[in-house]
Amino acid sequence: MENTSAFQNALNQLASVKDKIGLEEDVYERLQSPDRVIEVSIPVRMDNGGIKVFTGYRSQFNDARGPYKGGIRFHPNVSRDEVKALSMWMTWKTAVIDIPLGGGKGGVIVNPKELSAGELERLSRGYMRAIARFIGERIDIPAPDVYTDPRIMAWMLDEYEQIAGHKAPGVITGKPLSIGGSKARGYSTAQGGFYVLVELMKKLGLGKDSRISIQGFGNAGSNMAEILSDHGYKVVAVSDTGGGTGNPSGLNIREVEEHKKKTGSVVNFANGGNLTGDILETETDVLVLAALENAVTEKNAGKVSAKVILELANGPVSPEADKILDKNGAVVVPDILANAGGVGVSYLEQVQNSYMYYWSEEDVLEKLKEMMIRAFNDIWREKEKHKATLRQGAYILAVGRVAQAMRDRGLN
Ligand code: GLU
Repeated sequence: MENTSAFQNALNQLASVKDKIGLEEDVYERLQSPDRVIEVSIPVRMDNGGIKVFTGYRSQFNDARGPYKGGIRFHPNVSRDEVKALSMWMTWKTAVIDIPLGGGKGGVIVNPKELSAGELERLSRGYMRAIARFIGERIDIPAPDVYTDPRIMAWMLDEYEQIAGHKAPGVITGKPLSIGGSKARGYSTAQGGFYVLVELMKKLGLGKDSRISIQGFGNAGSNMAEILSDHGYKVVAVSDTGGGTGNPSGLNIREVEEHKKKTGSVVNFANGGNLTGDILETETDVLVLAALENAVTEKNAGKVSAKVILELANGPVSPEADKILDKNGAVVVPDILANAGGVGVSYLEQVQNSYMYYWSEEDVLEKLKEMMIRAFNDIWREKEKHKATLRQGAYILAVGRVAQAMRDRGLN
C-alpha cells in the first residue's frame, strides 16, 4: 500500500477528465504540478533536553480562484508526494463547493501520539515559525487535518500573530471558539458528508434501514457515526487502527465513543462483537471511508459489498479500485465532494473573522447545507450529461472552474 503514490493517483484522476472537458494542453500542463512545495526543518527541544529535528512541508498547489487553503497533517507517513496530492485535491474541493479559495496542504513527519503536550506545542509553534513568511490571510490559510486539532491551531495562530505583530485570526481556521473559531467547525466534515449521503440515498431509494459501516473513528468517522445514529440511521460496524466492532441491529454510538475514550480503541466494545475480518469486507449497504489514502485498491475492491461508498477521508479509493467498484455497480461519492464540509465551514469561519461578527450554529449549518446540496446537484447534473461517474462529474465541474479562472487571469 505504501508503494502507491497518492500524487500519481491524483494525476490519473485529472487525466481521466481532460478530454471530456476539452482541457487545453497548456492549462493541463500547468495543473500537473503545484505552484511550489516548501520543505522545512523544525528543531524541537524535547523533554529530555535534546533537540530533535522534524521535517515539514507546505504544498501550495493552485491559487487561481483565491488564496491557497488546506489543512496540516501530523502523521508518520507524511511525505512530499502525499502533501502534493492532498493540495491538488484541495484545489478541486474548494472549486466543487464554489468558495473563493485555492488549494494547499501541509504536513509534518511525526507521530504526535509519542510527544508530550509540551513537545507538541513546541513542534506546532516551530512549524509555524518555519512557514509564517509563506502564508497569510490573503495568501495561504492552514487548518486542521489528520492528528491535528483546534488546540494545535491556537498555538500556531498565536505564534503567527507574535511574528506579525498584529491580530490575524483569518490566517488559520479550525480555531477554538474563544479566539475566532466557528460554531459547527468541529464536526463540519462529517456534517457535510451527511447532507450529501442523505441526498444520494434519496435518489437511490435507500431508507434508514440500510446498513452503514464506517472505517476510521477519528474526527470525521466518529462524528459521522454520531450524526447518522442521531438521525435514526443504522451504523452496524465501525473500526479504527486497532480493529473493529459490529452489531447487526445497530451500534449505540455514544457508548462506543465512551468505550474508545476509556480504552483507546473501539475493539472489545461490550454491546458489539469484534470484527473478525477487514471492515471493508463486511456485509453492508453503505461504506463510509474515514481513515487514510488507498484504503481500497485493486487488491480488495472486489471484496467490497457496499453499493454506496462515501469518501470522508482524502483519496481512500485508488483509481484502479474506482473502476472495479463502478463495474460492480457501486456508487462512489468522491472525497472532493463528500468531505468538503470541513473546508466549507473553514471558509465561513474566515468570513466571520473578517466581519468580526459571529453566527449561530443554526446559521452556519444552514449555509453549509445549502453549499453541499448545491454542489451535489451540480455534480449529479454533470454526471448525467457526460454519462460518467460521480467522481468524474465532480472533476468536470471542479477542473472546469479552476481552468476558467486561469484563463481569465491569463496563463502566465
Ligand atoms: N483538512 C480538511 C480537508 O482535507 C480541511 C481543510 C480546511 O479546512 O482548510 O479538507
